[in-house]
Amino acid sequence: MAAKVRRNDTVEVMTGKDRGRRGDVRSVISDSDRLLVTGINMVKKHRRQRNANEPSQIIEMESPIHRSNVQLVCGSCDKAVRVGFRVLDDGRKVRFCKSCDEAID
Ligand SMILES: [Zn+2]
Repeated sequence: MAAKVRRNDTVEVMTGKDRGRRGDVRSVISDSDRLLVTGINMVKKHRRQRNANEPSQIIEMESPIHRSNVQLVCGSCDKAVRVGFRVLDDGRKVRFCKSCDEAID
């Protein structure tokens, strides 16, 4: 089945602490159905001191989020929408927005 959400899409988070926030999909981890989304699901990681010149620090980084927890933001109607697939006359399969019916690809 073709992917509903792809790299560089804008998605909106539907659940959890980041609910309602939007970000761009930075990468898709296909084996686990998870996405890395810019600025979403940030976790603090403690980086230990490795040598005297480098202080230990806490860095924030994105943690993958399951694709079922996000919805694609449609570029036409600017809403988090459900995505459908449609086959064009030339055989290409494109995504479309189930809210405004516009093609997304
Ligand atoms: Zn739309």
